[in-house]
Amino acid sequence: MKTLLVVEDEEPIRKGLEDAFVEEGFKVITADDGVKGYELVLAKKPDLLVLDIRLPGMNGLELCKKIRSESNQIPVIMLTAKSAETDKVTGLELGADDYVTKPFSVRELVSRVKALLRRTEKTGGEKEGPKSIVFDNIKIDFISFRTEKGGKNINMSKTEYKILKYFVSHRGEVISRETFLDKVWGYEKYPTTRTVDNFIVKLRSKIEKDKSFPKHLITVYGVGYKFVA
Ligand code: CA
Repeated sequence: MKTLLVVEDEEPIRKGLEDAFVEEGFKVITADDGVKGYELVLAKKPDLLVLDIRLPGMNGLELCKKIRSESNQIPVIMLTAKSAETDKVTGLELGADDYVTKPFSVRELVSRVKALLRRTEKTGGEKEGPKSIVFDNIKIDFISFRTEKGGKNINMSKTEYKILKYFVSHRGEVISRETFLDKVWGYEKYPTTRTVDNFIVKLRSKIEKDKSFPKHLITVYGVGYKFVA
């Protein structure tokens, strides 16, 4: 049985999520502030974290940043407010794997959680494909999940590693957004190809010298993206 940790200070939402996930066969533990949430991540080692952003104690962005800086690769789905576009971007930048926007449908969140668990499980023991790549001043290790830029550690989520690994395995080929959603996210029903674009934007800010003039993650207009190095 998979254990989910839900960190959310609004009681009705927290209880609602707990009930919904228990009904889906998950074990659920909860916290109502960020500090308790962080302690539970370490103490209980849950399989996935559903993390609200606006929290007392330590907010969701700080919590995510902290666990990623400690090389903790727990899959993270963030709950973001509808108006706060920057929260999504910042969340992904700090290493969240996915997000849903409040008010969200519980059904959608459940399917995102299942898809994220499926794809991170597959990432775990994957032996095939490139083990590492070095280009410019970037070093990406797909086995130990470490990335350095000019000797400095860069925080990335497993989803980002999976995207990069797919790019590196298909170097120079044009890859459509739908292919990414299928191969990386494993969605049977595609939410929106914008998800892919958001991840590419964040990856560029992490690995490109100038994210406005990308040299490695290239947009092929009307088709998708390709990786050049
Ligand atoms: Ca909140």
